[in-house]
Order: sequence, then C-alpha cells, then structure tokens
Amino acid sequence: MKFGGSSLANAANIRNAAGIVQRFSPENKIVVVASAMNDVTDRLLQIGDLAQRKENARVRKILGITQRLHVKTAKSISSRKTSRELLDRINHLNTDLEKTVEGISHLRELTPRSRDYLLSFGERLSTPILAAAIRNLGLKAQALTGGEAGIVSDDKFGEAKPLAELSYHEIRRRLDPMLAKNQIPVVTGFIAATVDGTITTLGRGGSDYTASLLGAALNADEIWIWTDVDGLMTADPRIVKDAGVLPTVSFGEALELSYFGAKMMHPRAMQPAAQRKIPVRIKNSSRPTQEGTLVSSREEDNAGRVVKAVSIIRSVGIVTVSGTGMIGSPGAAAKIFMTLGSNNVNVMMISQGSSEATISCVVARKDADNAVRALQLALLGQGFVDKVIAEKDACIIAVVGSGMKGTPGVAARIFTAVARKKINVRIVAQGSSEYNVSFVVSEDQGPEAVRAIHDEFQLGNN
Ligand code: ASP
Ligand code: MG
Repeated sequence: MKFGGSSLANAANIRNAAGIVQRFSPENKIVVVASAMNDVTDRLLQIGDLAQRKENARVRKILGITQRLHVKTAKSISSRKTSRELLDRINHLNTDLEKTVEGISHLRELTPRSRDYLLSFGERLSTPILAAAIRNLGLKAQALTGGEAGIVSDDKFGEAKPLAELSYHEIRRRLDPMLAKNQIPVVTGFIAATVDGTITTLGRGGSDYTASLLGAALNADEIWIWTDVDGLMTADPRIVKDAGVLPTVSFGEALELSYFGAKMMHPRAMQPAAQRKIPVRIKNSSRPTQEGTLVSSREEDNAGRVVKAVSIIRSVGIVTVSGTGMIGSPGAAAKIFMTLGSNNVNVMMISQGSSEATISCVVARKDADNAVRALQLALLGQGFVDKVIAEKDACIIAVVGSGMKGTPGVAARIFTAVARKKINVRIVAQGSSEYNVSFVVSEDQGPEAVRAIHDEFQLGNN
C-alpha cells in the first residue's frame, strides 16, 4: 500500500491511513510506502534553491514551516507508547535537515547529489510518523528508508534507476523476515541508495515507483495506490457530467492514459509491476470502501467496450514545416526532430501527409515560438524548407481503449461524432499500439469534442 502526499497531509489523514492499514490486517501481509507529506517535497526544493542563493531569511521561514509541520503532526500522533521515541527521531531529522541547508547556503552550491539528500528528508520525516500511527492501533510497524528496505540504485542523482535484480534480492532478504513476524515495514517512497549507501531519489512522483518495485520484488497479490481520487475516470468530470470510474484497465491502456494526463502513475513506475504482472489498484483514501480502478495485465476485461476513456491535453500548439523541397528528400524529418530535440522542445504528436510537403508537430504551447525560431534558423535557406509556422490555438483529444485494436470502424465513429458537432479536426494520429487515436482541434472546441465521444461510446454507463 502506497500513500501519496495528499493522503498524509495532516495528523487526521495520517491516522486515517493507519486505519486503512489496520482494516486490511492481519489477513493480508502489508508493506506500506509513504510519500512526503503534502507539498513538503516542493518546499524542500524551494529551500534548496534559496539556500544556494543565500536568501537566508526566506530559507529560514520555509524551513521553519516544514520543521514545525512535522513536529506538530508527530505530537498529535503521539501516544504514551510512542511519544518519546518519535519526537526524538523527528527532532533529530530536523536538526540534520537544518545542517544540510546551512551547508548548501555556506557553499552556495547545490549539486544533484546534495539536492537528493535534501529531498530525502520529506519521506524520512513522514514515515516514522505514519509508522507510529500504525503502532498506536496495536500493530507492529517499523519505519525504513528505501535503502534500508533494500532498494539499490545507480548514482544518477535526481532520476536514479534501481538496479532491479540486486534490489529484488535485497528487498526479499530484508522484508521477508519482517513480514514473517507480522511486522509492517513502512518504507520511504521516492528514495533509494547507491551500492555504497549514498541517498538517491527516483524522480518526482517516485513513491509509486517504490511501491511498484517492492510489490514486484515480493510478488505481491496487488499493489494499492491510495490517493485523493476514486480511480481512473472515463473523462474529466469537470467536462463530462456523467463521467465514471473505470473498474478495470490494462497496463497498456493505463500507459496511454497517463501520457494523456490522467492522474495516474508515471509510466516508468508501472514498469516493474507490469513486467511481473502484479495488478495495481488505484484507490481513494477518503473512500476506502470504493473498489477503485484495477490496472492489470488482463486485456480481456473490456466487457465489449472498444473505447474506455477520452482525455484532453490543453495548451498545445501546432508547428508546421512546409516546402516542396521536402518531397522525396530523405533526412528532412531527421533534421526537424534533431533541431527540436537539441532545443529541448518535446514533441507530443507528429503528422506527415503523404504528399510529404508538410510535417506538423504538436508541442506544448509555451514551446511553440521557440520551436519556430529554432527551425527557421536551422532550416530556412537550405533549399528544402520554405516556411515554418505555429498555430497556437489547439488542444489534443486522446481516445483510449485496447479494444480498438483490430476493430474496424472506431475511427469512423470518433470522427463522425466530432463532425456532427461541426468541430474541425486539424491533425490525426493513431499510435501503432492501436490503443489510442488522438487528434487536434481548436482549444475552445476541445470540451465539446470530449463530450461528443463520451456520448458516442456511452462511456458513462459502466
Ligand atoms: N515526494 C515525492 C514527490 O513529491 C515523491 C512522491 O510523492 O511520489 O515527488
Ligand atoms: Mg508527492
């Protein structure tokens, strides 16, 4: 069970999380993974940046808020049984945190390595509090860092990659005996350690990765991600009134959904679970009796549905490169994408008409001007590109469902539904997985397009 920061935002939420663990114990052996308390990681990042610039007054202010939050929460969780030990531990970590920040400010230097160490305090502070709350309910729980739980990573600080085989072995060696004694390990999400014990982090949102890795290592029955939504939805409920929770999706579908903005694990985080076919359940910690969404490797769970969900990505722009010289000229696309890549522009969709006279890329709107300038500089005047332009009023609609694969007529239904609303489609792309059809329309017509598709495929009737 992994609890996200929003499920641990204050003492009441932490007690609630502990109550959830108790509810499912002891029939289940549970390993708990905890994120930092809400916003703490963001604050630590801010503290690091300010300390590096020696903005000491602001550092002290935000540091104080963070320290007090944990002391206050720990005090409120404390019982006669846990108080001394817990408060000592929190105070100790707070002192250590302060020294770390002083070090950064003194040297005016924040390396990726020291930033990881700084960020690790978020999870190192939240886990002992959650463990104490679980102990208060009469269960045996012990807080562990990712490293202590056996997660070994490379030393790419900020985005460290777990060494899977070694970690799997170490995790079992350390956690199996605890589970056998009915002890509940409460593990820091997000952080790992190199072979020589230096703290690393797995990238933002990395607690899900931790949960997925531990679940895979221990061959768990399920990995439960406790969060603040009921699960994956058929569409954004702010756009579609009868949007509903999806009871099941496959890993392939979840992957597509997460690319298209669903509140979901990072695709990287799903990988260990998907690889070992461990189902992942997304559940709402304030409504624990709801089933949530089960993500699994079963594809047949479609209940006859070809389309499962439709989502929208707003604030994108279309960059179009055109020139008759591109026709039949190998390497034109390569030059375009090289240029965008080296200018740090992420390409979200690509389309080339078979006339080959234009190539369009969909990029984040904030990148559109930069992309045009870079492409003009790199490509104009070389004889094959005549024009580079950006259209900035656009959004992507993504239609997702593994049942679309090999089913004829889905695209026809999608575009007929959209056409009926007189919405003009500017670009179309189908991922070759056939799990998703995406298209671009003007931003103000996006919500209407989402509703048209949701209605056409009756996604609200689960
Ligand atoms: N606390 C980390 C973050 O906010 C990791 C996580 O919450 O998953 O990115
Ligand atoms: Mg978080």
